[in-house]
Amino acid sequence: MRTPVLAGNWKMYLTPAEGRKMAETLRSLVAECAGREIVLCPPYTALSAVSEALEGTNVFVGGQNMHPAREGAFTGEIAPPMLIALGCRYVIIGHSERRQYFGETDATVAEKVRSALAEGLIPIVCVGETLEQREKGVTDPVVEIQVRQGLAGLSPEELAGVIIAYEPIWAIGTGRTASPDDAQQVCAFIRSVLAGLAGDKAQETRILYGGSVKPENIKELMNRPDIDGALVGGASLKAESFARIARFE
Ligand code: PEP
Repeated sequence: MRTPVLAGNWKMYLTPAEGRKMAETLRSLVAECAGREIVLCPPYTALSAVSEALEGTNVFVGGQNMHPAREGAFTGEIAPPMLIALGCRYVIIGHSERRQYFGETDATVAEKVRSALAEGLIPIVCVGETLEQREKGVTDPVVEIQVRQGLAGLSPEELAGVIIAYEPIWAIGTGRTASPDDAQQVCAFIRSVLAGLAGDKAQETRILYGGSVKPENIKELMNRPDIDGALVGGASLKAESFARIARFE
């Protein structure tokens, strides 16, 4: 049995005060939610306030990115131990916005994933195709390369501990959601790629869907056998809507 994961990616939204308020509201709305991992990934500047507000609750905190080194002369970057010191358990790696606007590649993703695991963070590794790639019918090979290269060199145990977020780029922030069947098909395909790398351990890897997830579509997505949760952008900014998603309402 894989424990579902509902992770909110706030991107570059919410100040520390706004983040604290949202977290304080969310924690009471999901206090009764058992058997799932609920995660908020605020901007770096709000991590401390959000972590404090969620201490001792069933909601965890993650970073949206990290540098692979433990420390160093990398102006503007944040190291994994810094995330851990602020209460993070998770870190998003290779989000399509990082790939698109900040030049991240499967090679940088692989480096960050290895570093996150070595430091004790659970990586949420994002993969997904563009609209053009989907229309050309090359979704599976595109996603397979991202999975194989982004997770290169990991042992079966490490592969079991990674979370993969399948996020078709055309569905992110657009209001267009992949149909639950299409999302399931790609998530099952990802699991088959993982099985080639990790054997039976691939059954333990959590695979999330991301792309315009909202309270109205979470239930149907969660009904699919290879979808183990969601990575949520816009709808995670408001406590009420993210709580409904976390409760599968
Ligand atoms: C995301 O940022 O990963 C995402 C899926 O965003 P949205 O839910 O807004 O489409």
